[in-house]
Amino acid sequence: MKHLTLKLLFAACLLSSTNLFAQQEVVDTAVFSKIRNAELKDSHIPYIAHYLTDVSGPRLTGSPGFKRAADWAVAEMKKWGLVNAALEPWGQFGKNWELLDFSIIMKVPYVQPIMAYPDPWSASTNGLQQAPVVLLTPAQSRDTIYLSQHLDGLKGKFILVTGEPINTTDNFKPSATRLTDAELADMKDMHMVSHDMIAQYVTGISKTLNKVSVLLKRSGAIAIISTGSKNIDGTVFVQARGGYKLTNPESLPAVSMALEDGQKIKRLIESGHPVEIALNINGRTSTEDTKGYNVVAEIPGTDPKLKSQLVMLGGHLDSWQAATGATDNAAGCIVAMEAVRLLDSLGLKPKRTIRIALWGGEEQGVYGSYNYVKNHFMDIEKGTVKPEQAKVSGYFNLDNGTGKIRGVFAQGNTAIQPIFEQWFAPFHDLGASTVTQKNTGSTDHLSFDWAGIPGFQFIQDPLDYETRTHHSNMDSYDHLQMDDLKQAAIIIASFVYQTSIRPGMLPRKPLVKETFAFDGL
Ligand SMILES: [Zn+2]
Repeated sequence: MKHLTLKLLFAACLLSSTNLFAQQEVVDTAVFSKIRNAELKDSHIPYIAHYLTDVSGPRLTGSPGFKRAADWAVAEMKKWGLVNAALEPWGQFGKNWELLDFSIIMKVPYVQPIMAYPDPWSASTNGLQQAPVVLLTPAQSRDTIYLSQHLDGLKGKFILVTGEPINTTDNFKPSATRLTDAELADMKDMHMVSHDMIAQYVTGISKTLNKVSVLLKRSGAIAIISTGSKNIDGTVFVQARGGYKLTNPESLPAVSMALEDGQKIKRLIESGHPVEIALNINGRTSTEDTKGYNVVAEIPGTDPKLKSQLVMLGGHLDSWQAATGATDNAAGCIVAMEAVRLLDSLGLKPKRTIRIALWGGEEQGVYGSYNYVKNHFMDIEKGTVKPEQAKVSGYFNLDNGTGKIRGVFAQGNTAIQPIFEQWFAPFHDLGASTVTQKNTGSTDHLSFDWAGIPGFQFIQDPLDYETRTHHSNMDSYDHLQMDDLKQAAIIIASFVYQTSIRPGMLPRKPLVKETFAFDGL
């Protein structure tokens, strides 16, 4: 018995010492401090933010605004000393679109401005059009049978699709929040969709959309105006679910409007007061260059053995149209650029090569990162990995707004848990410590995860991302939290540097073969 207890005791000691030993990371805290001090002393974040938002304008994929931002980012990173900075085509995207002119106003029963924005890739109205408004409910506007039976009533009219009146109960909740310790301790899987689910959703949606837009176009209506239930208090959420594909049929000019304006017009019409509005949309669509682009640049590795290996970081550069895409996702690009600027300006010698990528086409379906991974690391359709796939240690993404980093989603990678916990230790004072095995989705790290490469999105404080800025007319420079972005740049620069000098590559999950029986996501 005594002998058995000793054996068990010895086994227990051995186990704990091997775990401790196996997972003890040599964290370069000296460099972490250098990075932190440099960022807090001389941050370039406001400057980068100004050029990616105010100067570039909205960065819709395929638009001149995206090109302005991409060209500026390439030139700036070249100036900083990064190498191989370039716009890299990732494949066929579709139509380019640019807004040239827009106005909307209520004319009858009295003149009053309206808060509304053209939807991206909207058709033009061929000048200013004034006409009566007719109402459709959201359900009717998607019902091809109802529409085909009511086409006559839509001819020469503006179609207003508006649903329920404003729900004011939300007004009593704060629009901006930070994660509590309880929420961090109990993280859930978020936005998790498989590639197939995205594919089926996009294919399904575009099939219905195509049918509806053909019918509405045939009705001879002038334009379709929608009010979403969240379009209140001066915030209008504006995005498009299609229209950029070369195969998309010509659709009606489309506008997103504030719910307050939509409900007023609805009440007037329902009480027998005809309403007329005047609308002008002038958008330029071109198919000169239908390719999509990503921005890439590098800090070369210095270790003879490891420099052919890669550590990647980034976020999507494309945005929606109603503002300048500040929190979605200039924030992620600002932080990634500042991180490589810090690493380069401090003259740090990474062993592995560090590559930054600013993606295009994310809002339409993670196109840029998905095709980048497909072009460089894995033939996804065939499910075959390219030799380069084994050389990418990891990819770090930021795309959940302007809020500071509170931790990271480990995407079910159990072996990475103790590693990241040790890397976060120097940042507990900045509020970052949580490593959850939970997954988060709907952004570009998934493209790497699908290809069996460790890809991570950080946990960020939500602030007013979902309530105010995400895809809205309020997504401007003014809603960026500069101190939060500085904190994120410090942590991401440190994690990327640590990954570049770590003796071993980051541990991987087993590669799950995703079926990709489609294209044109
Ligand atoms: Zn985003």
